[in-house]
Amino acid sequence: MEGGEVPAPDVVVVGGGVIGCSVAYHLRGLGLSTLVLESGQMGGQATRAAAGMLAPLTESRGPGPFLELGLRSLAMFEPLADALREESGVDVELRRSGLLLLALDAAEERDLRERLAWLRELDAGVRWLTPTEVRELEPLATEAVCGALFVPREGHISSTRWLDALALAARRRGVQMREGCPVIGVLADGGRATGVLTAEGPVSCGHVVIAAGAWAGLLAGNLGIRVPVFPVRGQVLALRGRPVSGVILFGRPGYVVSKPDGSVIVGATEDEVGFDNRVTAGGMLQLLEVVPAIAPALAGAQFLRAWAGLRPASADLLPVIGPAPGLEGVTLAGGHYRNGILLSPVTGALVAKLIAQGEMDPMLGPLNPARFANAPNSADARPTSLA
Ligand SMILES: Cc1cc2nc3c(=O)[nH]c(=O)nc-3n(C[C@H](O)[C@H](O)[C@H](O)COP(=O)(O)OP(=O)(O)OC[C@H]3O[C@@H](n4cnc5c(N)ncnc54)[C@H](O)[C@@H]3O)c2cc1C
Repeated sequence: MEGGEVPAPDVVVVGGGVIGCSVAYHLRGLGLSTLVLESGQMGGQATRAAAGMLAPLTESRGPGPFLELGLRSLAMFEPLADALREESGVDVELRRSGLLLLALDAAEERDLRERLAWLRELDAGVRWLTPTEVRELEPLATEAVCGALFVPREGHISSTRWLDALALAARRRGVQMREGCPVIGVLADGGRATGVLTAEGPVSCGHVVIAAGAWAGLLAGNLGIRVPVFPVRGQVLALRGRPVSGVILFGRPGYVVSKPDGSVIVGATEDEVGFDNRVTAGGMLQLLEVVPAIAPALAGAQFLRAWAGLRPASADLLPVIGPAPGLEGVTLAGGHYRNGILLSPVTGALVAKLIAQGEMDPMLGPLNPARFANAPNSADARPTSLA
């Protein structure tokens, strides 16, 4: 591979999921030649499994780095979706449908009303709806609902189309992409990365980005870098729905997302089973219980299919973005856990700025991989708690 006609790229991105593709797209936009090496197919792991919700307020338990990053990324979707449509011709089916965070009993109602206190301060239009208002907005919602928080700015996207748009637009900008090409290690000289080693041979480059999803901890571990990132399996299923308002229904048992193609995604399990990404009977049982709990009217809907993916979770459940400690010329972009689709625009933009312009955005401070310097390495540690 080395020594051919093609000059060494400025940057090699390891992993062609939504994070790797967004990083590559933005790097090329800042003028760096970029090669993405993907061991399987572009987006073939967690990315294409995702329900595509864009829900930073729903996914936050309070103000903090995740919420800041998520809101910044959410605001990037419209302009980026427009640019990607221009560059790739792909409509990513972005919908600001709003989301109903359902209270199914008195304790959940108390909890959600407490959340409303800090959510109100964000001026995001979040408000409490009575059971009647909930069912007026979304007739599919269970009659047993005690009320709900309505989060108007949240929505969803087709994660498959989003990946296709990013990858195609990146290619059209000149990014090289190679599928079926696992990276085995990083080549270094004098404490600085000089390239990567693949199954097909070495590839020289000026900088390496590790965007290997649930496998990032293993790859970084091979370099002696402590990055506790683990797989957390998520199983989902799709039903053939009936026309509804399109608002997302989200509750303790799970969620229901109506897609523009008429399918309804029901998710998701949280299974700590290592790198096993099979769909299981127990997983399906859990998901089928979401239907009567949240949207019983869907009980007669046709079953379409089920699938699973491995979310990359870090030990503190925050993304891990920034320079790899102890090895110059390597940047980590991972640990996006339940929100990698949501966080892909901001991650791509900030990582590209960091590499191309040496500019460390203050938002990256709490996400710096160095915070794990003394943590146990990958397989020995587990996330502190799963959200
Ligand atoms: C069921 C489910 C539902 C979800 N729903 C949502 C949602 O609604 N909203 C949201 O924002 N997020 C959601 N997520 C989370 C989201 O899918 C992930 O956070 C995101 O896809 C992570 O992207 P990634 O690029 O880091 O990882 P991946 O998509 O897994 O990509 C990593 C890539 O790296 C490749 N790779 C690994 N090792 C190597 C190597 N050594 N060499 C070369 N390539 C390598 C892999 O093959 C893979 O393609 C969901 C996830 C699941 C599983």
